[in-house]
Amino acid sequence: MAKYSTLYDILSNIKADAWATVLPKQLDQAFDSSKQGDLAGWFDSIQALPTVTSSLHRLLDSDAITIGAAAEISLMQRQQLQENLKSLHPWRKGPYDLSGIYIDTEWRSDWKWNRLKDHISPLKQRTVLDIGCGNGYHCWRMLGAGAKAVIGVDPMLLNVMQFLAVKKLYGEAPIHVLPLGIEHIPTGLKAFDTVFSMGVLYHRRSPIDHLLELRDTLQSGGELILETLVIDGKLGEVLLPEDRYAKMRNVWFLPSCATLESWLKRCGFNNIRLIDVTTTSVEEQRSTDWMRFHSLQDFLAPENPQLTGEGLPAPKRAIFIANAQ
Ligand code: SAH
Repeated sequence: MAKYSTLYDILSNIKADAWATVLPKQLDQAFDSSKQGDLAGWFDSIQALPTVTSSLHRLLDSDAITIGAAAEISLMQRQQLQENLKSLHPWRKGPYDLSGIYIDTEWRSDWKWNRLKDHISPLKQRTVLDIGCGNGYHCWRMLGAGAKAVIGVDPMLLNVMQFLAVKKLYGEAPIHVLPLGIEHIPTGLKAFDTVFSMGVLYHRRSPIDHLLELRDTLQSGGELILETLVIDGKLGEVLLPEDRYAKMRNVWFLPSCATLESWLKRCGFNNIRLIDVTTTSVEEQRSTDWMRFHSLQDFLAPENPQLTGEGLPAPKRAIFIANAQ
C-alpha cells in the first residue's frame, strides 16, 4: 500500500476534512487486489526500485522530470531499474529521466506545460488539484513551479503505479496521486487554490456537470486551467461523435471555443481567457519504445491528416483559464 501520511495534513490545511473522512475507505477500495490482478506484480516492481539517497540530482523544472544521475548506480542496478520501469508499460505521459534512463513517453507532455506555464497564476504557496492527472507528470511540474502541495487523481491504477515508482526514486514530497475519479471528491469542498482539468472533459458524458464539479473543488476566486478537445465553429456548435473518435470509444462532447466559453460562464466562472489552441501533431503524440501500441499517426485518415480515421476533424486542443466566482 502506498504511503499517504502527509496527504491528510495537506487536506487538513485547506479544510477539506469532508474528503479526509471518506478517503481511507476510497483508497482501500481502489487498491483492492481482488479487482485488479496485476496489482501485486506492480507493487513488486515498485518495491524493487532503489531508494535514491542523493538528493542533488533532481530537476522538476526541466522538460524531462529528472531524478538521479547515471553515474550514481551500477550497470546492473541500471538494468534492473530499466526492467522494473518497463514492466509498468505503457508510459503515456512524460518524459522522465530516471538515473539516466530516458523514458520517451507517447506524449511530449512538456509541450502542453510550456503552452500554459506563463499564463497561470504563480503556483507559489498554492495547493493544487490535478483532475485526471495520468501518471502525474504535470503534478511534478506544478511542484517544480513552487506549489505548496499537489494532489492528483486518476482512476487508472497503472498511472498511479507509474507515479509511485517515480516518487519512490524522488523521496518524500508534498505530492500525491490518488487512484480516484473526480466523482469521488465530495461536493461542496471549495478548498483548492488552483485546479487543473486537462484531457478529461471530452471523456465525461456530462460536460456541464464536470465543469460544476470543478467549480465546486475551488475556493471562491480560485483558478481553473481547463484543457480539452475543441472544434472550429460558432457559439452553440458542438460535435458529438456518432461512435468512436480517433478510435476512442469514450469521447463525448467536443465544443467550439465560443461554446465552451459560454458553458464556463454558465457554470460560475469569470475572467475567462482562451490562452492557446493547438492542433495535436504526430511529433507530440506518437508510439515509442515506452508506448508500443498505436498512436495518433494510426488514428488519422491516411489520405488526409486533417481528419480522423472516422472522417471527423483531427484532434485540436484549447486551453482556458478562468476564476471561480
Ligand atoms: N491530464 C493529463 C492526462 C490526460 S489523459 C494530461 O493532460 O496529459 C486523461 C486522463 O483522465 C486519463 O489518465 C484517465 O484515466 C483520466 N480519467 C478518466 N476518467 C476520469 C474521471 N472520472 N475522473 C478523473 N480522471 C479521469
